Amino acid sequence: MAQADSLQDKANQFAADVFEHIRQMSADTIGVSRQGYSDLETQVQKYLMDIARQLDMTISRDPAGNVWMRLAGSDPTLPALVSGSHSDSVYQAGNYDGMAGVVAALTVAWWMRQINFVPRRDYVVLIIRNEESSYFGKAYAGSLGLMGQLTPADLALKHRFLTVTLGEAIRSQGVDPEPLTKGRPLVDLSRIAAFIELHIEQGPMLDGSDTRVGIVTGIRGNFRHKSIKCLGQTAHSGAVEKAWRHDAVMAFAELAHTMEAHWQAWLDKGEDLVFTIGVVNTAPNASIAAIPGLVSFSVDIRSLKQDTLDRFYALLRTEADAIAQQRGVQFEFDRRIPCEPAEVSSALNARMEAMARRYGLRCRPIPSGAGHDAAVLGNAGVPVAMIFVANQHGSHNAEEAMKIEDFIQGTDLLWRTVQNFEEAI
Ligand SMILES: [Zn+2]
Repeated sequence: MAQADSLQDKANQFAADVFEHIRQMSADTIGVSRQGYSDLETQVQKYLMDIARQLDMTISRDPAGNVWMRLAGSDPTLPALVSGSHSDSVYQAGNYDGMAGVVAALTVAWWMRQINFVPRRDYVVLIIRNEESSYFGKAYAGSLGLMGQLTPADLALKHRFLTVTLGEAIRSQGVDPEPLTKGRPLVDLSRIAAFIELHIEQGPMLDGSDTRVGIVTGIRGNFRHKSIKCLGQTAHSGAVEKAWRHDAVMAFAELAHTMEAHWQAWLDKGEDLVFTIGVVNTAPNASIAAIPGLVSFSVDIRSLKQDTLDRFYALLRTEADAIAQQRGVQFEFDRRIPCEPAEVSSALNARMEAMARRYGLRCRPIPSGAGHDAAVLGNAGVPVAMIFVANQHGSHNAEEAMKIEDFIQGTDLLWRTVQNFEEAI
C-alpha cells in the first residue's frame, strides 16, 4: 500500500481506530471477552457493517449468522474473492485473534475505495461467528454451521459459566440452529473463488525473527476431549497403604507422563504433533487428607496429518486402558471432538509468494499450529490460504499484542494478492 505516504498513514489510522473501538466495546476486567453468538458479538458485527456501508459495500447474513460485506466487482458472474476471520474471542483474551483478519480484509476494501480500484470479481469481507471453543467447547461453530456440519450434540453443549447451550445462544442471535446440522453447505461454495484469512501467529516464530509475515503451509487438525474422568477410590490418606490404593491423581499423572514421553519419541521420528492437557480438576470434595477418587482433565492432540492424529489417539486409549488395569481405576472418555487437518491451496500460496517478491514484501513459510475457519472452508473444497502476522505473548490471554506496522505488512500482502488476482501467475 505504498502509494502516497499520507494515504498509508490514513490506512494505518483507519485500522488502529477500528481495533481500538472494538477493544473498548469488548473490554473485560482484563483484556477483552467477546463470546460467539452473543449480543456483544452481534454489536461488533453491526459496528463493522456500518463502516462497510460507508464504503458502499452491500451486506448480507448467511444462515449461520456470519456477515458477508461485498464490494462489487465489474463482473458479477465471477465467483467472489473472500477474505476475513472470526469476530469472537476467548474469555479475557487479546483483541487481535480473529479481529486482525477482519480488520485486514476491511482495510483492503477501504484502500480500494480510496484509490478508486474496482476489482474484476466481487471482493467480500467475511465476518465469521464463534470460532473459539472457549465458551461452549466447540470450535468453528460459525463456519461449521455454514457447512451444515454442526451436530445436535454440538448444539447441546453447555456454556462454561451459564446454563445456556450453544443452540440456544445461536437462536438468541436470530439464527435458526436447525439447518446448521443438515450435513450440507448452506451457501453455494462454487461462488467462492478463494478464501484468504489473515491471522496473528499466536506463537513465537515470526516475532523472534526479522520477517514479520508468514505464508501458512498447512493447518493442524485436532482431537479434543473436554473432560475425561479418571475414577479411583476416595479414602483416608493415613489409613490406606500403597498396595490398596486406587489413586486417581497418580493414575492421571502416569498417563500424562507416559504420553509426554511418547510425544517426544514421535517428534524425534519427525512427526508433526502437539499434545496438551489444559484443564485438570480433582473432585469438589477433594482434600489434603484424602486419597483422590476423581480427576477430570481435558486433552488436545494436534497434527498436520490425520494419520498421526489417529495413531496418537489410539495410543492414548491403549495407555489409559493399561494404567486403568494396573491401578484399579477407570478412565471415562467423554465425547471426542474431531477437527480434520487442512491443506492450503498451493496455487494461492504461489500467488502470494509471487506478490511478495514483486513488491518486496518479506515473508516466510510457516505451519499453523492452531486451527482456523480457513481449515473448515478448505476441507469443504474452497481454495484457502492464510497470512500470519507476528504478534507478542501468544494469544488466548489478555497480554496478547500486535504491532500495527506488522499488521500493515501482512495486510499489504493481502492487498497485492487481491489487486492482482486476475493475473495468471
Ligand atoms: Zn483465531
